[in-house]
Amino acid sequence: MPSERESRREIVLWGKMLHQRGFVAATDGNLSVRLDEHRILATPTSMSKGLMRPADMVIVDLEGHRLAGRRNVSSEIAMHLLIYRLRPDVRGIVHAHPPTATGFAAAGIALNQPLVCEVVIGLGSIPLARYGTPGTPELSDALAPLIPEYDAILMSNHGVVAYGDTLHQAYMKMETVEHFAQIALVTHLLGRQNPLSAQELEKLMVARSKYQGTKSAAALPIAMVCEGGNHHDGRQPAAPSTPSENTSKRRAGSRQR
Ligand SMILES: [Zn+2]
Repeated sequence: MPSERESRREIVLWGKMLHQRGFVAATDGNLSVRLDEHRILATPTSMSKGLMRPADMVIVDLEGHRLAGRRNVSSEIAMHLLIYRLRPDVRGIVHAHPPTATGFAAAGIALNQPLVCEVVIGLGSIPLARYGTPGTPELSDALAPLIPEYDAILMSNHGVVAYGDTLHQAYMKMETVEHFAQIALVTHLLGRQNPLSAQELEKLMVARSKYQGTKSAAALPIAMVCEGGNHHDGRQPAAPSTPSENTSKRRAGSRQR
């Protein structure tokens, strides 16, 4: 487990990456690391994620009370604390507004189609949580049912949150989400989507447990079924699917011809 000092440096590093990749603008976004059972190290509010220093970070307890640090903690800390409470396996969280994935979130479209095998293995499916005002229970209520089931979530009209057993893993998931959103956008532009079949998804599920010893909670994509062939608009309601719904939809998945 990384020391507090290492964790501060890691937040600086991945914050810079978020900024360099254009995943955040101005002072957007926030990152955090679970230091131990009671303490979370998080980014301060009102600071560019490209300009932070290790000493700028804030330590809070699981209720969000500041334990150390000169600055105020991110206003979106409640979302981080919710994830740490619901997912004891999570040690790092990244929240950002990458433009393509956030475009999907603003259009009300989940990234839940099995279009790319490696995304299925790495992340499963990326659902869309309904809109909630940042920093309010409304947002927590929208995210809570999805957090145990997925490792990255689109937040309607807002952005993306991704988390993992390290901050590094959480950041990588954020990159995968944005990259996959770009690919999904291209399929929308081409007017065709050719999702993986249910049989192929089964094989990927086997591969996934082999590769990852799968620590990932992420549910598999919903293989879309639509009448009239390959193309559909991919529009999904901004509401969580229950695991049982996922399972039945997963089984129903098939390649559209
Ligand atoms: Zn945000």
